Amino acid sequence: MALIVQKYGGTSVGNPDRIRNVAKRIKAQRDRGDQVVVVVSARSGVTNELIDRAKSLNPSPDEREMDTLLAIGEQETIALTAIALHAIGVQAVSRTGPQAGIITDDAHTRARILDVTGGDIKRQLDEGKVVIVAGFQGLTANGEVTTLGRGGSDLSAIALAWALKADVCQIYTDVDGVYTADPRVVPDARKLDLLSYDEMLELASSGSKVMQARSVEFAQKYNVLFEVRSSFNDEPGTIVKAEAPNMEQILVRGVAVDKNQVKVTLSELPDRPGVAATLFQALGAQGVVVDMIIQNIGRAGLANLTFTVAKEDVPRSEKVAKAVITELGGGKLLPPADIAKVSAVGIGMRTHSGVAAKFFGALAKAGVNIMMITTSEIKISVAIEPAQADTAARALHAAFDLGKA
Ligand code: ASP
Ligand code: MG
Repeated sequence: MALIVQKYGGTSVGNPDRIRNVAKRIKAQRDRGDQVVVVVSARSGVTNELIDRAKSLNPSPDEREMDTLLAIGEQETIALTAIALHAIGVQAVSRTGPQAGIITDDAHTRARILDVTGGDIKRQLDEGKVVIVAGFQGLTANGEVTTLGRGGSDLSAIALAWALKADVCQIYTDVDGVYTADPRVVPDARKLDLLSYDEMLELASSGSKVMQARSVEFAQKYNVLFEVRSSFNDEPGTIVKAEAPNMEQILVRGVAVDKNQVKVTLSELPDRPGVAATLFQALGAQGVVVDMIIQNIGRAGLANLTFTVAKEDVPRSEKVAKAVITELGGGKLLPPADIAKVSAVGIGMRTHSGVAAKFFGALAKAGVNIMMITTSEIKISVAIEPAQADTAARALHAAFDLGKA
């Protein structure tokens, strides 16, 4: 008998038929004699609807109240899933995040998990029940309801799998697993059987939307093996686990495209120590996450500085940039421009040379112009015109031989 944690995302529980389908899958697992804990998201679209409703009443709603509101979405689906299981003769009970003992800090709307007690889950399992837990929500030490950031049900599932010492954590979603590239853009993209945490993290933070990046960080920290697979078929998915030596033989595991990026340029800045520090400290203080940075010295010894941020962070970035220009007594803010970030990721880059040559050679041959470059030990990323993103992804995918054999 194994203990299995299954997580079903918003599309998988999007309507009554789909909830019925999920219930059947859970029953099949239970019929094999396994103990099953299920984590569900809100129906797809519900969290966004709730956010819109709050914002229609107040453009900057209080974050504590937002958490109270957003917790509704998952509370609906746990109860409906339990009810659907009862209808097919499976004993099941729902638990909210607080009831499952998901203890967090008090950073409302983006809380961090501090501990997972599991509440009475073990006892319910021993009594033969399937336990359905609300993803995305937790409780502070002071008894306040919190949420774990967008996509946070993934984190709930990984954290529960860790706390309950589950044998497997299955993340069920609407795709068959993690691909070498987005199959809608690169037709010969392949599903990956295996991936290391580092690769999954880089892919997750490079625009491949399969899982919440924080949940992968948590899995890596506590060594929770998980599998990403589809709730619509029985194909094996992608296993994500700690790195093994033979995983380094492959140079590049996948190519990711992020079209949600904007570049912000400050030109004619004074060229003296402390300018970059002033700007990036001010951005950091406003909670803006900066991705790529490039600086060059132009005419008359003045500096140009460009950085990229997610689209949502553009208004805040512009406000900060204007204030910093005033503070520094010089500089101009150019209009922000959309860019696409295209990345190649693979732990093999650590131990092989020539990856950059191949990467830039492929883009040159495809006529893709590069605006910015960043690298990590296992990733090369470029900022390019959004219109060239798909061409670039296909060129890199082909150059690194990632396609179907
Ligand atoms: N319902 C939450 C969201 O839409 C959490 C999740 O789906 O994982 O972000
Ligand atoms: Mg999700």
